[in-house]
Order: sequence, then C-alpha cells, then structure tokens
Amino acid sequence: MTAPVRSGQSTRGASATLERYEAVIGIEVHCQLRTVSKMFCSCSTAYDGAPPNSHTCPVCLGLPGALPTINRQAVEHVLTTGLAIGASAPPTTRRERKNYFYPDLPKGYQISQYEIPLMANGTLTFDTSGGPVTVGIRRAHLEEDTAKLIHAEGADGRRVSLVDFNRSGVPLMEIVTEADLRSAEASRRYAEELQLLLRTIGVSDADMERGQMRVEANVSIRPRGEQRLGIRVEVKNMNSFRSVERAIGFEIERQAELRDAGGAMVQETRGWSDDRGSTYPMRTKEDSEDYRYFPEPDLPPLSVDRAWIERLKARLPELPSARRGRYLTERGLSSYDANVIVNDPRATEMFEAVLAADASLPPKEVANWVTNEYLRLLGRVGGDGTGFSAPGDVPALIRLVVDGRITKANAKEVFEAHVVDGRRVEEVIRERGFHQISDAVSIDAIVDEVIAANPKAVADYRAGKPVIGFFVGQVMKATRGQANAGLAEAAIRARLDGAGAGEG
Ligand code: ADP
Ligand code: MG
Ligand code: ZN
Repeated sequence: MTAPVRSGQSTRGASATLERYEAVIGIEVHCQLRTVSKMFCSCSTAYDGAPPNSHTCPVCLGLPGALPTINRQAVEHVLTTGLAIGASAPPTTRRERKNYFYPDLPKGYQISQYEIPLMANGTLTFDTSGGPVTVGIRRAHLEEDTAKLIHAEGADGRRVSLVDFNRSGVPLMEIVTEADLRSAEASRRYAEELQLLLRTIGVSDADMERGQMRVEANVSIRPRGEQRLGIRVEVKNMNSFRSVERAIGFEIERQAELRDAGGAMVQETRGWSDDRGSTYPMRTKEDSEDYRYFPEPDLPPLSVDRAWIERLKARLPELPSARRGRYLTERGLSSYDANVIVNDPRATEMFEAVLAADASLPPKEVANWVTNEYLRLLGRVGGDGTGFSAPGDVPALIRLVVDGRITKANAKEVFEAHVVDGRRVEEVIRERGFHQISDAVSIDAIVDEVIAANPKAVADYRAGKPVIGFFVGQVMKATRGQANAGLAEAAIRARLDGAGAGEG
C-alpha cells in the first residue's frame, strides 16, 4: 500500500475534495462513568496508580458462577446524559451479551445493550466556524470496560503480553450519533461539546488522553447530490481532539483519492497514527451478527419509572447551551464571548465568581478580562495552572479600571502579577505607583503646566491644527502614564477653548 503524500496541503486538498464529494460522519463515543464501584461488582474504580490486578473479584475476573448486580449510579449517569441531550428512556430496557473472544475480556462476552438502549433520540447543538450545527444522537447505552493489555519485554528478553484486570468491568457509556456530521471540524467540535456536557453534568471526567473518553469515527463519502450512503470506514485510536479532526480529514481525502482512482472501498476498521498523520488498516469490519447478541440471563429487565426520571431531571445543573443563551440575553455578551467563556470551565468559573463578588461590574468588561487576559495567562502557564483561585482580587481590580482609577495597560500588569505570581492587587499598584490620576483638581494643575510650557502648540491649536494628541501626550508624560486620558483631553479642550480663543 502506498502512503499518500499530502502533508501541509490537507486544507487545500480537503476543500477541493469537498467540492466534489460530501463527507458523511457518525461518531461513537465511549466514556468511563464516574462511579465509586464497577458496573457489576463492588470493586473500587479508583485503581489509578494501584498495583495491577489489585481491584478485582470473581465477577470482574469473569470466574465461572459469579453473578453480576447492576450499579444504580451508572444507570443514573446514562439517564442523566440522555436528559441533557433531550433523549427519552423506554419503559423497560434489558442487557444483552455481546460475545467475542479477546484476552482482555475474561467472560468471553461483554454485558452491553443492543435492542433497547437506556436512552434514545437526542440532539446536541454546538458552534463551528461555519455556524451552529445540530447532530442527532441515536442512542446512549450502558456497557462495561475491558481489562488492559500491556505488551512488554519479560525478564528473559522475550516479548510478553500481560493483563491488568483493574479496568475490567468499569462502567462505560456508549453514545452514538446519527450520520449527521459533514466535516472533520464539526466532528471535533461535537466531541468537544460532548466532553463539556459530560463534565458539566458530572457523569464522566472524560479525559481523552487518559482514555476516559474514546472517540471513534465512521467516515464515508458520496458524490454531492447523492442520497445513498457510501461504504464507511471506522477510525479508531485518536487520543486527542486534534487527532479526531486530523484523522477524519485524512480519511476523507484518502477515500476521495481511492474513488477517483477507481479503487474499491471496503468496510473496515482503520487505526490513526498521529506520528505518520495517516490511517492504516486494522481489520475488516465485523457485522453485528458476529456477536450473537442475546438477552443477559443473569440480570432482569430494568424498568425506568417516570418519577425516577423526574428526580434526575430536577438535579440537572445549568447546561452549556442554556448558559450561553443566558450570557447573551441576561449578560449582554457577544455570542463569541459567551462561547469562549462557556467552553472553558476555568473561564466560566472566573466570570461567575467575579460577578458574584461585584454584581455592579459591567459583564462585558469582566468578559474581556476573562477571555483576553485570563485565558491567555492560563495558556502561557499551562499544566496545573498557577494555584490562583477565582475570583481573588480581580473584582477589585476591574472596579478600579471601570472607575478610571488605573489605566488598562497598568491593570494588565497588575492582573498578571496577581494571577501568575499570587501578588495582592493593592500591593502591586502601590509598589509600582499605578494609581491613575482621575481627580479634576490634579489633572487641571498638570494641564495648566503643560499649556504654559507650550505656547507654540497653543497657537497651533487656535489656528485649527490637530494638536490635541500632542497635549494629551504631554500630560501623560508629566504623569508617567497615570493620568486618565479622557479626563485629560476634556480638561485641555476646556482650558484652551475657554481662554478666549473662540470658535470660528
Ligand atoms: P456499528 O454498531 O456496527 O458500529 P452502527 O450502524 O450502529 O454500526 O453505526 C455506528 C455509527 O456509524 C453511527 O454513528 C452511524 O451514524 C454511523 N454510520 C453508519 N453508516 C455510516 C456511513 N455509511 N457513513 C458514515 N457513518 C455511518
Ligand atoms: Mg461501531
Ligand atoms: Zn470486581
């Protein structure tokens, strides 16, 4: 197989391809649910850093005769997710066995859901560079995670494969979209919005790098105007949002080239290699018949009554979409600012905390500080952040800016010292002499000095020349940048116009 060379041209190539072909994408997301114990046993899910196989029991080791019991919290998490995407629960659901052999699956089957998922028919709406997109969500169902295989080198130098069953039986939710997505970017944005939602409602930590959220993309193309779906490829092994976008973009291009060259598409599963920037064949796709699904005999059907659903609905926090809407209508933010703030929980926290501390601050001004300064600093500091906890002295600082008692440039310096180095705002302002001169008496005194010292500029002003900026500059210079520029300009005009110059 030849590796197509297209590095650096993916954007140009993609747009040319997309004129002829329409990409059709459906996404399957698996996420580990945030529960205390595993899906069908009482083993703890807090196995991170624990010795291999220390969080196991006969149930999650798949020993013969062990019986599963269902985790109520996990069921509630799926129901809550369904409610958050406007899906609905059937009156009864059941579990099915999905049979296949693999060393990480000790029972030889996974307890999953096939015919009747816990939640069905929802939607998720999110923003893309081309405008808002709404994707249908076919189903959200409950299953269990597999053990982890570790491929290593044994003491004798031979390659060995080891199995760690700590992850075996961890509650897993699968969320499957309709084939509604039409671009790599929209697919990435869907995954990002879903992660934000899962975190907001507290059902999953959904960290992609840590495998708590795994995204698989089903990708096909069809000539524009064609209604029938093309043969799809399922792409796996993308472990960041960026890889999701790159992998799908690559796959669209690859399929278009194959089609243009008259090649035959096969339904298969392909892996994504981040290093090579390409997908590679893993296996030809098995059909669902291969799994011999049948109802799980060890668990009774599960009824979901209305009252249970209503209780969970009442517990839902404000969802990202509702919050964006509220920021537009109640706070008067632009949709850009609302998106930036809501999409980053740290930004949301800061924005909310500042306004909670001082409700009289203009939300737009607070939003500017959060989106421009705060996120920029957090991005620069990276990693675990700065140890700063919102709102700190930020409400007081923004208050000074709004009241014209510190210049914006100086305030930015103070903000950085506060957020990054943990310095107190008042202290930095005092130390650096940043209190802005905004009282009329002090400004008038300085304006008088500047006018007296510049008779030529005064004459120019009276001759109608545009020298006002020069005067403001002189006032700034005299005060080391600490005069309120607006007040200074007004004072200068008042002085010069009032001193008998007369206006034409
Ligand atoms: P499976 O369970 O075998 O993976 P499904 O039929 O449940 O297959 O579909 C999985 C995902 O693939 C869904 O998101 C669905 O929308 C999407 N999908 C199905 N057919 C296509 C296609 N031809 N092109 C793109 N996506 C598709
Ligand atoms: Mg699939
Ligand atoms: Zn167990």
